[in-house]
Amino acid sequence: MSYIFPPKVISAVPIKDSDKLYPVNRIYCVGQNYSDHVLEMGGNPKQNPPVFFSKPANAIVIDNAEVNYPLATEELHHEVELVVALSEGGTNISDEQAVNCIFGYAVGIDFTRRDLQVAAKKEGRPWDVAKGFDQSAPISPIKPLSEIKDLGNARISLSLNGEVRQDSMLHSMIWSVKEIIVELSRFYDLQPGDLVFTGTPSGVSAVVAGDHLVAEISGVGRLEFDVV
Ligand code: MN
Repeated sequence: MSYIFPPKVISAVPIKDSDKLYPVNRIYCVGQNYSDHVLEMGGNPKQNPPVFFSKPANAIVIDNAEVNYPLATEELHHEVELVVALSEGGTNISDEQAVNCIFGYAVGIDFTRRDLQVAAKKEGRPWDVAKGFDQSAPISPIKPLSEIKDLGNARISLSLNGEVRQDSMLHSMIWSVKEIIVELSRFYDLQPGDLVFTGTPSGVSAVVAGDHLVAEISGVGRLEFDVV
């Protein structure tokens, strides 16, 4: 047997300060994981459990590569997020096992076609067209957990054309990284190569062609690119 056309090369993210690559298997995302962002979207942080959705693995865009303004939207929003890169997985993972599944962290952006998401929410439809589109997941190099110090006071921020739009602390996450892994593994058989975008703080706003974005998490990394 042979392929009827050559299979695509697998998407991969550089490992920080290394010539190694992290092969991407799947991309999971958590919605509504910072109280301030839940409030700005009109929700109730205590009432709503985290929302899971996904993006195709080939939605990633590596650091410094241009992002093309996507099709079918007039309201492309940036959402800066901590990204967890798994090197182990499983189902029904325990609290203790969860930490051992983490290879490292990166800075990512969960680009969202907000107009399509608002329409989907209104009609009770899935979020796929709002979230899982081409080039919707820019990501910085991954920093191995072994090189990361305590992130208890880590700042997460995003600047648009030099102006700070999102600025919060990782400890403001409603669900911790460990809790997210435990919860996700109740729904999916998590695997090495799975990335998890862990939600965004408040300050999301629209991006247009020509904009320059810089996203940063102290102690983790930095992601910088242009929208064209
Ligand atoms: Mn998000």
